[in-house]
Amino acid sequence: MSDNLVKKLTEYKDLSDAELKEIIETDLYDAELEEAADKVRRENYGDEVYIRGLIEFTNYCKNDCYYCGIRRSNRNSDRYRLSKEDILSCCENGYSLGYRTFVLQGGEDNYYTDDIICDIVSEIHSKYPDCAITLSIGEKSYESYKRYFEAGAMRYLLRHETADDEHYAKLHPEEMSIENRKRCLFDLKKIGYQVGAGMMIGSPYQTTENLISDLRFLQKLEPDMIGMGPYIIHKDTPFAEYKDGSLELSLRLLAIVRLMFPYALIPATTALGTISPNGRELGLKHGANVVMPNLSPVGTRKKYDLYDNKICTGEEAAECRGCLERRVTFTGYNIVTDIGNVRKYNNA
Ligand code: SAH
Repeated sequence: MSDNLVKKLTEYKDLSDAELKEIIETDLYDAELEEAADKVRRENYGDEVYIRGLIEFTNYCKNDCYYCGIRRSNRNSDRYRLSKEDILSCCENGYSLGYRTFVLQGGEDNYYTDDIICDIVSEIHSKYPDCAITLSIGEKSYESYKRYFEAGAMRYLLRHETADDEHYAKLHPEEMSIENRKRCLFDLKKIGYQVGAGMMIGSPYQTTENLISDLRFLQKLEPDMIGMGPYIIHKDTPFAEYKDGSLELSLRLLAIVRLMFPYALIPATTALGTISPNGRELGLKHGANVVMPNLSPVGTRKKYDLYDNKICTGEEAAECRGCLERRVTFTGYNIVTDIGNVRKYNNA
């Protein structure tokens, strides 16, 4: 019986809602899911793990998401912005360490106008034409996204967070809407970006039905990247009293997503490494094929505190590349210096 459900998911890349509910709500299938997900990731990507250098360039944010440590209402947040020169020196350091993707992530900070973003992107693009530039700077207009794309950004990460509008409304203030977030994702796709969506696992009020809606939404969007990590509390948010998402459920969803989207680029996230010392290694074993070491200046890393106890923020973590490489190799995979594009069309 249990054998059949995982086999069915592997073969059809889909299950009915009732079957998904069954597989999500029990640990009975976990061992088979892990094995099947690893097999599918190896069929599509071998043992390769792609590295993305994450540059957290601002923690100012105009939004007020209830779960996030850099929300505008958090008066305890020590705010910072990196200059263009700071960002370029992160890229220079990253390039010499073998990174061929730079991810510029930040709060929604209007200080960085479209002109400023385009200037930064085009300078990185002209200095490092063999690298991919990924932006993760939130919800913008079609025109803004188009300008960044024309300046040289080719990927965009924008987690949908939760696809269900009632659940979305419990996690965000009224001025934010899932409609706009989805609009952004489809706009990004239309413009030609490689697009990343995804959800937090175990966020407050989340139900199994919400997770199934997330999977159904991902099936509609067909994103190139799917970023998922456990929700983790931040003490200075309205959700400080809720509990963290679990490692088990996060790994289960990773494996399910790998089986539903064999082609996808799926990170073993920092959040996963935060809730468990070997969380990222376990993520890799459950189908993840991307890691995103921190390239931000060591002095600012602690300040980009989306959630409590985030790893890789201390002095000792100045060079995440070597540490992660050892972890990945030890787990049986292989970090590659490669732009690491999606293999969607080979395997469709
Ligand atoms: N402003 C950008 C980047 C947001 S931070 C944007 O809107 O896309 C990147 C991701 O961190 C978010 O998409 C969210 O899924 C995750 N995140 C934020 N707070 C978190 C928390 N408390 N626990 C776990 N993940 C969190």
